[in-house]
Amino acid sequence: MKRVIAALCVVLLLLVACGEWYARHRTEVDEYVRRFISGEPLGGEEMNTPTPLPSPTPEETPAPSPIPTVDADWYIERNRMLRLLLRKNGSFQNAEEIDAAIARMYIDPDKPMVALTFDDGPVAGVTDQILDILERYHVRATFFVVGARLKKPEAVALVKRAISLGCEIGNHTLDHATLPKLTVNELRYEIVRTNEFVYDNTGYTVRSLRPPGGAMSWEVTRIAKEQNMAIALWAQSGNVYEQDPEKIAENVQKQIVNGKELQNGDIILLHDTKERMVPAVELIVPQLLEKGYQLVTVWELLNLSGKGFVVGETYRNQAD
Ligand SMILES: [Zn+2]
Repeated sequence: MKRVIAALCVVLLLLVACGEWYARHRTEVDEYVRRFISGEPLGGEEMNTPTPLPSPTPEETPAPSPIPTVDADWYIERNRMLRLLLRKNGSFQNAEEIDAAIARMYIDPDKPMVALTFDDGPVAGVTDQILDILERYHVRATFFVVGARLKKPEAVALVKRAISLGCEIGNHTLDHATLPKLTVNELRYEIVRTNEFVYDNTGYTVRSLRPPGGAMSWEVTRIAKEQNMAIALWAQSGNVYEQDPEKIAENVQKQIVNGKELQNGDIILLHDTKERMVPAVELIVPQLLEKGYQLVTVWELLNLSGKGFVVGETYRNQAD
């Protein structure tokens, strides 16, 4: 009899326990029964889903910062032209390599920038070494070429290589003429023929004119405008007569003669004709990068100026 009572107690306890469990899980059980009757999946797939790993904290995996870009039509056009020019003048194997090279030529419009410019070249033995330095640091410059030099294949090869690195090719006249001394037709020929030398050899359209010696006249401005070009003078100079590479680099940061300090947006004048410029550029490029400057082309710098790139205008820096 005792055994029967004990068994009944156990059954009773089990019933109470089941009742409590059902009361707690009633909703899930009812849903399970409903799914079973309607033939819907019973939720096993959820049970097989692996437990997600805890999200790493931001300190563990810093989000890759997006590549800065410029939200402007001229920048889209720049990249479109670069694709064509790099394919024509560079030695890239495929479109991916070209796109990767262009991606490295990004501009952050919110960071300071200056434009290095080299006049009077290209000169074999100098310009190529300067290009080596620019390539190593992934920076760009503007080369104001003397058109007549492009009669030599080695000079054309240097221009093509500069273009393939994203550099700008500017016009420094056909034979380094003092433009205000010329007739209008002579002046136009100096400019147009140089642009043709560049375009015919590379497909590159020259947009910037630097009159030799900075010698300007009303006619120079008029012909520049007629040829869809802007005039790029300079705000800072390494000094053409300086012999010492360290002093050339010092002049870029702060003029030895008049104390003018380099400013954000300045166009910097250098020359790629003398070998002493190579060690000078070796100093100048890392110094500018260390100070936080981006090195861009004149055309890029002026497009990012307040009034943009305006044909027939004369600029010394971004603020002009
Ligand atoms: Zn010159």
